[in-house]
Amino acid sequence: MSDGPAIDAAVNMKAASGDAPGYAFQHDVVRNLITRQARYPDIATSYDWYAALAFSVRDRMLARWAASTKTYAAKDVKVACYLSAEFLIGPQLGNNLLNLGMEAEARDAMRALGQNLDDLLAIEEEPGLGNGGLGRLAACYLDSLATLEIPAIGYGIRYEFGIFDQEIRDGWQVETTDKWLQKGNPWEIVRPDVSYYVGFGGSTQSETDAEGRLRVRWIPSRQVKGVACDMPMQGFNVNTCNVLRLWKSEAVESFDFQDFNAGEYYEAVEEKVVSETLSKVLYPNDEPEAGKRLRLAQQYFFVSCSLQDMLRLMDAKGTPIEHFADLFAAQLNDTHPSVAVAELMRLLIDERLLSWDAAWDITRRTLAYTNHTLLPEALETWSLPLFQSLLPRPLEIIFEINRRFLDDVRRAYPGDEARVKRMSLIDETGDRKVRMAHLATVGSHAVNGVAALHSDLLKQTVLHDFADMFPEHFLNVTNGVTPRRFLMLSNPGLAHLLDETIGDGWASDLARLDALAAHADDAAFHEAWLAIRRDNKAALAQRIRNTTGIDVDPNALFDIQVKRIHEYKRQHLNALYIVSLYRRVCRNPDLDTASRCFIFGGKAAPGYAMAKLIIRLITGIAEVVNNDATINGRMKVVFYPDFNVKNGHWIYPAADLSEQISTAGKEASGTGNMKFMMNGALTIGTLDGANVEIREEAGAENFYLFGLTAQQVEEVKRAGYRPAEYAQASDDLRDALDQIAQGRFSRGDKDMFRPLVDNLLQSDPFLVLADFADYVACQERVSEAWRDTRQWTRMSIMNTARSGKFSSDRAIREYCERIWKTRPVRIDLAQP
Ligand SMILES: *Cc1c(COP(=O)(O)O)cnc(C)c1O
Repeated sequence: MSDGPAIDAAVNMKAASGDAPGYAFQHDVVRNLITRQARYPDIATSYDWYAALAFSVRDRMLARWAASTKTYAAKDVKVACYLSAEFLIGPQLGNNLLNLGMEAEARDAMRALGQNLDDLLAIEEEPGLGNGGLGRLAACYLDSLATLEIPAIGYGIRYEFGIFDQEIRDGWQVETTDKWLQKGNPWEIVRPDVSYYVGFGGSTQSETDAEGRLRVRWIPSRQVKGVACDMPMQGFNVNTCNVLRLWKSEAVESFDFQDFNAGEYYEAVEEKVVSETLSKVLYPNDEPEAGKRLRLAQQYFFVSCSLQDMLRLMDAKGTPIEHFADLFAAQLNDTHPSVAVAELMRLLIDERLLSWDAAWDITRRTLAYTNHTLLPEALETWSLPLFQSLLPRPLEIIFEINRRFLDDVRRAYPGDEARVKRMSLIDETGDRKVRMAHLATVGSHAVNGVAALHSDLLKQTVLHDFADMFPEHFLNVTNGVTPRRFLMLSNPGLAHLLDETIGDGWASDLARLDALAAHADDAAFHEAWLAIRRDNKAALAQRIRNTTGIDVDPNALFDIQVKRIHEYKRQHLNALYIVSLYRRVCRNPDLDTASRCFIFGGKAAPGYAMAKLIIRLITGIAEVVNNDATINGRMKVVFYPDFNVKNGHWIYPAADLSEQISTAGKEASGTGNMKFMMNGALTIGTLDGANVEIREEAGAENFYLFGLTAQQVEEVKRAGYRPAEYAQASDDLRDALDQIAQGRFSRGDKDMFRPLVDNLLQSDPFLVLADFADYVACQERVSEAWRDTRQWTRMSIMNTARSGKFSSDRAIREYCERIWKTRPVRIDLAQP
């Protein structure tokens, strides 16, 4: 038991008695403080204590990890591999404590050691390895996979710099570098022994081998080594602990100093620098950036490492290659990993010497593809010359896949050359490009959209020809979010009330929330519900005061829109409404209007000028409205800086109203909408993405619907949309636009918002003006409803009660049953 006199002495100095409950865990923490942080208690910083605690929690997970890994290796199990360029996992300490059921124990132990657990939780930097919804979805799925006891591996990239930190200076977004690894990452286990080589560039050679087979040899001009960096992913209330395996790039060559003269030495160092650049930084865009060579290199790098790792695991298990698809199901999270189609073929043909047909059969049975967008500009393509120069062998394979595939198309649709052109993996119109969505679709046995509406539109629009040819491959899996992080962890007050009211099974069976409906009219329950909501809002108000200096009243209606800033998400529609409401109160200072606090948050891509201007508009409106004596606090506008998972923990539980106001047909699903709903917010939204299903579940009477439908949006556009006519027709709208144009929110500067106003009046690609009137009318109904606290509270309860469908557990069950054919495996800790 003894760690040596020094450690024992330090522990005893801090802990009351060796027999006191919780002593063992305190001992672990102090031991880790000394042996891992190399600090003793008297001089330890808060970060040292955080790290020591994190290591102690990690130690508990590693026991479960070992048992899980051992079980997967021994048993005949199928492993789900989730390939994603992004995992936005959020802070880990709180979630791991929660999933291990040891939060109270840790709190007590840290208190005994003179530390406050909440302060330590606040220290943790979140790994910002994603841009927004897509990366967060991947993280929710890892939580659900482990919780449902599904053997799984998440594969991605260990970016040294994740999504930038956002500051607001002078009203504008300023990006600063995300240095999340500066102090180290206690959750990470680097495995130098788990590493693979990935080639780039060079050329290919054909040769005939000894058995007379034609073989292609790729001679890359450059090689990079990928090293596994693992993070444990602990399931909730189960022993299963899966792994998130992120690849870090390293230089292959270690160079021998003797052999170099000075010039070569610097070249060799340069080579090392270039190789390590590969996993340096996450592209901070929600959409692909045209022609970024490094981005394609990142994608190929992590996909190749991941597939090689799967093959190694197969070998280690002694499974013959023919059974690869029975051992692994690999899901492509959007097209970012879609080069996997070519790379798995390459590994099977060139390295494992399988025939084309055998390799193709394995590839298609292994892979499945999730589409995340219908926006044409967000569909990923790569120019042929770029692809050729970086990945010559994978491109040859893509050409061969395409040749065979287009033969199939011609057989199925004789004489339809227009269709052949549309479906080709290569876009031949203009500069030739590889169409990654087509590659992913052709190489997969299943293609899914992420909400019912999105999956329908997918089949009608971007993948229509493919759905026509393989209708049985297309399905829908509506997204979900984990109720552990987004309810239990971030809204402990509500979680406790749920435990008391409907029992504690809801966290792993969210459909049980339905039982809340029976309490929707119970006055005592209303009181408890409202008290929790008030606390959550007060906590957010405190944070708003600390970060922005703005005072907001927790009794006001908290109207919140947090998500990436994008024209299709229409933060500017919200802003226009605020201006019009402000103007109405200015004209009529006695107007009896519900007190509202408008809260925005979200990052704009650094190169997206219009999105940055929308942030500036919001901060400009805030400056005027918050300081106008006529308003007298009835309206407040806040831009909460640096929206990320950690800040989301405070924001989602404090919302009364959730803004989900994208142009219908543009938001694939949304997941923020689900987090708000679970926490009891009402939604004001369009019939877009998962809003459709949220409204179905909540009931139309508990949802504020407005706006054109996806079909109407198309009709308006087809008829020749003229946004200026909407401004002509509405005094309020014209006035709001005038005020912005006249510099009312830019300290008199009439140029600042001109691009935004001109864009709305002249083209308005996302129909902001067309939906304005209906949005305003809907907001007025919201304000009316807010006055009736009893009725509002009832609607709030009903939203939480009906949010069960939006658990990521439900989504993962659907993937397992319908696509992956994977089954739970119970992990026994006591096994030999
Ligand atoms: C949930 C989440 C998102 C996605 O929000 P949407 O409203 O669905 O766009 C983006 N960023 C963070 C940090 C999130 O937690």
